Parts: sequence; C-alpha cells; structure tokens
Amino acid sequence: MSHDVDLFVIGGGSGGVRAARVAAGFGARVALAESRDLGGTCVNLGCVPKKMLVYGASYADDFEHARHYGWSTAEPQFDWPSLLRNKNREIARLNQVYARLLADSAVRLIRQPARLIDAHTVEAGGERVRAAHILIATGGRPYVPDIPGSEYAITSDQAFHLPQMPRRIVVAGGGYIAVEFASIFHGLGAAVTQLYRGDLFLRGFDGGLRTHLREQLSLRGLDLRFKSAIKQIVRLDDGSLELSLSDHSKLQTDCLLFAKGRRPVVDDLGLANTRAALDTRGYIAVDEHCRTAEPSIFAVGDVIGRVQLTPVALAEGTAVARLLFRPDTVRPLDYSLIPTAVFSLPNIGTVGLSEEQAIERHHRIRIYESRFRPLKLTLTDSSENTFLKLVVDADSDRVLGAHMVGPDAGEIIQGLAVALKAGATKQVFDDTIGVHPTTAEEFVTMRTARVAV
Ligand code: NDP
Repeated sequence: MSHDVDLFVIGGGSGGVRAARVAAGFGARVALAESRDLGGTCVNLGCVPKKMLVYGASYADDFEHARHYGWSTAEPQFDWPSLLRNKNREIARLNQVYARLLADSAVRLIRQPARLIDAHTVEAGGERVRAAHILIATGGRPYVPDIPGSEYAITSDQAFHLPQMPRRIVVAGGGYIAVEFASIFHGLGAAVTQLYRGDLFLRGFDGGLRTHLREQLSLRGLDLRFKSAIKQIVRLDDGSLELSLSDHSKLQTDCLLFAKGRRPVVDDLGLANTRAALDTRGYIAVDEHCRTAEPSIFAVGDVIGRVQLTPVALAEGTAVARLLFRPDTVRPLDYSLIPTAVFSLPNIGTVGLSEEQAIERHHRIRIYESRFRPLKLTLTDSSENTFLKLVVDADSDRVLGAHMVGPDAGEIIQGLAVALKAGATKQVFDDTIGVHPTTAEEFVTMRTARVAV
C-alpha cells in the first residue's frame, strides 16, 4: 500500500524533532505535527527557561559575595517582569530555530494536533496522512492532585509566566522540579516553604546528597517541612491562600506551586484505534527499540516514562530513526550511568549508583566522602559547604557512583560520567592529577574510605 510519508511524528519536542531530522537526513519523507510551540517541555516550560531562572536567582549570591572581594554596589534590585521578558524573547528565538531546523531538513511541519486513525493513518487539521511508520513523542504535563481548592494552585507551567513574583510561595513536592523552583524563588527574594510527604526530599538520590542538600538549603533560610501534606486550600479575601496541613496547622501564602510529578500526554491520541497500549503506570508501553505493540508505531521520551530527561529522549529519537532508515547504524539504547543534575542552589550532580543502591545490589563497597568550604567562599560570610562522594566496589575497585552538591556540580559530573562509562577504577581516579585549585580536584584526591556493607 502506498504511503504519503515514511515517518509521521506526533509531537515537536526534543525526541520528536530529533527523530524527524535524523530520519529526514537518511532520506526519509517525514511529517511532524505540533499544535503548540516547537521544542516541547524542555525549550518552553522546562530545562531551558528553568536554567535561565536559576541563573537569575544565583545573582543574589554573587552580589553578596562580591562585597567581600572589594566591590561596592548599590543595593541590588530585582525586577521579575524584566527577567521574564528577556527569557520569553530567547525562547521565541529558539522556537524559530527549531522551525528552521525542520524546514532545512525538509520535514513537513503541520501546526495542528494529530490523532491516530489506524496503524498507518494520522489525522491532523482535517487532513489524513498515510505513513509507513508513526512516532509518538507527545511528552508529559504536570500532575495536579485532587485536593479541595487545588484550582488555586499553579504548576511549573504557570510559574514560567507569573505576572508578579510572589512574596511568599509554598512549593509542594520533593522531586527535581520542586527542589529547583524552591531554590529559584528563594534566590529571587521570596520566602519559600517546601512541603514534602516523605522523610526527606529527592527519593532515589544518594542519602548523603539528600541530607547535605537539606542542611545547605536550611542554612540559606528555606523552610523545609517533611512528612507534611496539604489537606485543603482556601482563597482568602485578600487573594492569598490558606493551606490546611496534615499536622492540623495552617499556612498562609501568596502562591502554591504543585510539583508532584508529571503525567504522559496520551488522551485524544486515538491509541484505541491501534494495538498500541499503555503500561500499568499509564505510559505508552514499548519494547527495547521503543516499538509499541503495533509494529508500525513507536514512542519515545516522557510519554514512555523510562527516564524523563531531554538527552534520553534525544537518544531514543535518534535510535528509532536509525532503526527504521539506517538499521546498519543502530546502537542499542543504554540506560546505564546516565548523569544528571538538579539545579537547586547549590546544584546536585550525580551519576551511577547511590550508596543505598549499591548495597541493595549486594556490592561490597568503600565510600569516599569530602565536605569542605570552597575556596571562593573563604573570603565571604557564607558557611556553605560542598559535598563530594564516590561509591566504589571493594572487590573490583570500580567506581560505581559519583555524587556532588556544590557550585557547578552539573558541569563537573559530566566529565566523571565519561570516566565511569569507561569503567574507571578508584586507582584510575587516584592516578589522575588534579586541577589545582578547584573543587573538582577533590574527586581525585580522596584517600580515606569507610567500608559499607
Ligand atoms: P519527580 O518524579 O522528580 O518528583 C515527583 C515528586 O512528586 C516526588 O517528590 C513525589 O514524591 C511527589 N509525588 C508524586 N505523586 C504524588 C502524589 N500523588 N501526592 C503527593 N506527592 C506526589 O517529578 P518532577 O515533576 O519533579 O519532574 C519530572 C521529571 O522531569 C523528573 O523525574 C526528571 O526526570 C525530569 N526533570 C529533570 C530535571 C533536570 O534534569 N534538572 C529538572 C526537572 C525535571 P515521592 O518521592 O514520595 O513519590
């Protein structure tokens, strides 16, 4: 049967655009449907604008530290609308860049929502397109819990467009987004309370990292409350919100930000018209090649809920395009040792196994840890500490995990990820000469271990 295109991509975020461009580069005829701004969550409501807000927030430290280095400045003033205006201008530029990249690759862009009609047909804007293959890359959206008054809360989507900076904000949740936005608003001058239902935020990260970050954020003045849940939200006459908490206390705030995870965008996709199905968590079920139960339909990125990170969606999108159009270039998707950063202030950088995961997997391990005041802060009033940790397999000497809380942790961990991926042992770390004086050199100078079993 003839097809109008070789690949139809639904969703113009990181994974979808990458797959479309790579496939087109292999000579495939490709169409891509996206009804919202090109670039998806990462470009519009995630990584990129978030990092801009983190940069904005980090100037608070810089102004303060600069005084101790002999600079005198007028009392710094922060203007939220200016930051948002400049951020929006840059994001609009990136949207154009994405459109140009697709056009240059001869990908046909359809600015309409798309829906599956059958295993080889997509409908978008009233037009039916026959496709040899279809890729779903529709991403995710924030989850809003069903609590009385939750309509008064915002999510990260709205946080990027608030008309005014809240004076007081409550961030509810304990994952990446919660921790990052708590730091952003605190840095920009708001009084921040973070509520999390568990004992300690960032579940799944190394215990030492989590404890260290809690200490540093508390030191900075964030009000962190664990084992705390919101039961009800009421809007008061002055427009502020009153939260009733699980310990029967009340908390007033100007803004409540829910950061309690994200859900895949799968409604209105017409999945039921095909054999593609959802897994028990509600994500699109795929095999190791990102293929659904319908052989012509693939899915990548946040909508499959494996590892919800942009570089992973890019790798998955590339892999699908190769599999379909240049199978000789296929490399198996490798989800091991994915480095990641949490852009709290201070940052977290992490790769590999946490101490807890290593023990769970029955490794006999040695732990190397270092806590110290970074050189840059020694002239300042700040008592903030940096934390570095290596998890080493005692039998093979292989470094299983590297973790850090401190300035530029995300930048530092990328290089360590290469070493871990290459199978570096602690001896290799020890044999590596440090760059002096830096924070990163501590990763190659830690000599005293504690044994954990
Ligand atoms: P996360 O999965 O990181 O965290 C979700 C948080 O919400 C957890 O603290 C979780 O608690 C809590 N939660 C989940 N369900 C409920 C519920 N029903 N009631 C109360 N609390 C709940 O999700 P995020 O939304 O923060 O981020 C989504 C993903 O996006 C991340 O997993 C990450 O992969 C990616 N991301 C990456 C960033 C980066 O690379 N820097 C930045 C931002 C996002 P509990 O732990 O107890 O389950």
